Amino acid sequence: MNEFSLIDRFFKKPAILDSSVIYGIGDDAACLHIDPGQELLISTDTLVAEVHFLSTWKPYDIAWKAVMVNVSDMAAMAALPKWLTLALTLPKADEAWLENFSQGLHEAMRQFNLSLIGGDTTRGPLSLTLTILGLAEKGQALRRSGAKAGDSLWISGPLGLAALALRLDKGDEVDPLDFAFLQEKLQHPYPRVDLRTLLQRYASAAIDISDGLSADLAHICQESQVGALLDLEALPIDPRLKKYAPSQALELILGGGDDYELCFTVPKLKIEAFKQELIRHKLCCYQIGVIEKEEGLRAVGAKKVSMPLSAKGYSHF
Ligand code: ADP
Ligand code: MG
Repeated sequence: MNEFSLIDRFFKKPAILDSSVIYGIGDDAACLHIDPGQELLISTDTLVAEVHFLSTWKPYDIAWKAVMVNVSDMAAMAALPKWLTLALTLPKADEAWLENFSQGLHEAMRQFNLSLIGGDTTRGPLSLTLTILGLAEKGQALRRSGAKAGDSLWISGPLGLAALALRLDKGDEVDPLDFAFLQEKLQHPYPRVDLRTLLQRYASAAIDISDGLSADLAHICQESQVGALLDLEALPIDPRLKKYAPSQALELILGGGDDYELCFTVPKLKIEAFKQELIRHKLCCYQIGVIEKEEGLRAVGAKKVSMPLSAKGYSHF
């Protein structure tokens, strides 16, 4: 199998049905149609073996995660994910590995009707770089910089479970059902594209939580030149955090990354209407604090005393 038969066999099929793709894999560049009135959003994420995943993971799961972390960036921008490119570096052309990898890739893409429109294939230590392209109506993409003092602060779901999964070993005494659930959280994140239209209408700023709540919230604050006060009592705590890491639950919620939920702000005047919409759509988000004029992160707990909060999350360097 050479480079080109490999691309034909594992990446060129199934044929792209989306009419926005004028042509995809097979030329020196892909060509896309974009409607007037829409804006193109682009984001890249690299996943490196033993940093973002273990090379012992099933290739299916590696591909799934690579797609989903890229889709999550589109979800954070309230954009519609549409197209992907894949730069794949492989130690060797292992057919069974590639077969399972391409199944995971295509299954993950199918969740959001994504089209694979190009890429690059090289030999070297296992790593994947995906570029995702998406669409938003003119001016509708959501940025980190739109939060204002007085806005309410929200997260789209419970946090810390992917980080807990990383901490637990098979050797630990863990209920096999819980172990499977947590592994699922780590390996099969499902980005919150479902919140796209609600966020466009109600949110003032958003970010996806990949490095940990406090680190990612700090990015919103920095870009918006505001601060935030977190209500620790309002944070949802999954029972498995209490069960397996009772003394570290808060640390995992605030500092653990990899959950790919969203953190966003909603102006005060829109809160009631936003809550009604959540009910109408049977969605659950959690109001966890407020944006304040004074820069920096703070937290209040049961004693209602405000304490400074460190913004540390995962950082590569
Ligand atoms: P070039 O040498 O001109 O860069 P390549 O030979 O690398 O082109 O790739 C041939 C075609 O296959 C291109 O259309 C490219 O986008 C696509 N391609 C290469 N690798 C991948 C991959 N891993 N996934 C999807 N498409 C790929
Ligand atoms: Mg190339």
